[in-house]
Amino acid sequence: MISQVMTVPDYFQVELPEIFACIEQVKKGTVTQIATSPGGHPVHAVAYGEKTPQEPTTNLSGYSGGGAEGSYVNEDRKQVIMLIGGCHGAESEGTAACVNMIYHIEQGQDLRGVTDDEFNQLLEHYRLIIIPCLNPDGRARSPKTLDGIEGEDYTRVCQGIWKDGSSIGYPNCKNYQPLNPADVQHLGGYPNDDGYNIMHDATPGDIKTDECRGLLKLVNDERADLCVHLHGHGGLADILPPNAGTFDLHRKRILAYRRRMMEELQAAGVPTKDYPTPDPAETWLCPHNLATMTCLTSGALSPVFEQPTNDQDFDIRIKTLFELTKMFMRHGLEEQFSPRREVLRSFYDAGADLKRYD
Ligand SMILES: [Zn+2]
Repeated sequence: MISQVMTVPDYFQVELPEIFACIEQVKKGTVTQIATSPGGHPVHAVAYGEKTPQEPTTNLSGYSGGGAEGSYVNEDRKQVIMLIGGCHGAESEGTAACVNMIYHIEQGQDLRGVTDDEFNQLLEHYRLIIIPCLNPDGRARSPKTLDGIEGEDYTRVCQGIWKDGSSIGYPNCKNYQPLNPADVQHLGGYPNDDGYNIMHDATPGDIKTDECRGLLKLVNDERADLCVHLHGHGGLADILPPNAGTFDLHRKRILAYRRRMMEELQAAGVPTKDYPTPDPAETWLCPHNLATMTCLTSGALSPVFEQPTNDQDFDIRIKTLFELTKMFMRHGLEEQFSPRREVLRSFYDAGADLKRYD
């Protein structure tokens, strides 16, 4: 297989033993194993900030029909933010940044030796749940980073190689769910060891992976307000235009955060482009995926965040997640991330005849 051609700094820790060592030293947070991968690896979630006690009397769907205040989420509580790294094993930046964030909270500084006081102050207002690596099988199969891996090699590392030596390719890899391990010589970084791309394990009622099942159970148990899906791509930092399969108000709010991201990350020294804003009224050709599922599970605002997989300072790759999380936390002091209540209100305001919507 194609191997790493450059060295990465010690603070960029993305190998499974490094991730597990980070989990081992957690004392302030609460560690939960939410799943076991087909390759036998644990998937961990680390939670910080107390969980506000509340026994919901219904689920998101029931709330959307019944509408009783506090029946699903008590808005006085600390909002719940989830950072979900490592869904795609070759996109290691999110994992490295999550590991550094856990060390920062536990030890007062991250592995770079950096302390972020604003982050610490904002954290007091939230329950933060960090999943450093949702797909440990894909991570174990991938190089530390994609730096120096270019062209066809990049495709082969990320999307895999058929038995006959030809590239599976993008987006063709998504035409197989699962990608049968018997048909390939390399699965690429996307899937778990059973060949499932967890990002597309998104069929309600027939979830195939323990990783996805464990994540969605946690999202519902926590009634998450914000689920940030951390990925890597060939461009600069970006919140992708939101999925078509979620609520209109969620999509509009994700676009608002995307504009804030362009301004606030730029101001913090994280390069972004001035991405054009699509018209929310248009039909968007955006995928249905795990972000749709986290949104429909708890009403969580579920942006997909992409950052460069190569050609960027390692320092920036870690800093990016701190700046992104702070951006959400600053705005979350002023508003609920999830527009659950507004979705309901817009429904009533539109004059819905409730008898017709049971
Ligand atoms: Zn990805």
